Amino acid sequence: MQIKINDSEIMLIQGDITELDTDAIVNAANKDLILGAGVAGAIRRKGGTQIQIECDLIGGTFVGGAVITTGGKLKARHVIHAVGPRMGEGDEDNKLKNATLNSLKLADEKGLKSIAFPAISTGVFGFPLYRCAEIMLATTCAYLQKTKGLKKVVFCLFDKAAFAVFEKELKKSGPQKP
Ligand code: ADP
Repeated sequence: MQIKINDSEIMLIQGDITELDTDAIVNAANKDLILGAGVAGAIRRKGGTQIQIECDLIGGTFVGGAVITTGGKLKARHVIHAVGPRMGEGDEDNKLKNATLNSLKLADEKGLKSIAFPAISTGVFGFPLYRCAEIMLATTCAYLQKTKGLKKVVFCLFDKAAFAVFEKELKKSGPQKP
């Protein structure tokens, strides 16, 4: 499913984010930038040790922040490491919004045209999927209304259930592309 916003688009797909060839894929990172399980583990396995080395040089970032490394051996040339909230730590909605927004801004600053997000914080960090879909999609829609840089924002959902939740939410946001 995809929708158009001005001359950009939001697209939903189901699959493994590490297989995508967007200019950047987003890692659901932790603030120490240690690539552990979930999306981060898949990125480490497929992208090689170079990405962790670059993360170590950066050292870390705040919850809601985003930093960029190369994509190592991945098809995507860059990885944007976005730190989502851990459920229960407080102010989770704002932090997820900021993690999304800071990733979009960073991609634009670097002149990237396409970016792919996972459902940040909905794995190990325990954030509810429907709220993640609401926040990440609303933030992206609002951002694309005013940017001229980014052309394509993909949400890559790992399973059918997550895809269905995002699809339902995106259908509320605007007209579907024919
Ligand atoms: P967090 O620690 O932010 O919760 P996780 O990596 O544990 O991050 O999970 C975030 C979401 O990404 C979960 O919904 C999980 O099912 C999904 N996920 C895990 N591996 C992949 C992958 N290779 N591609 C896309 N999504 C993935």
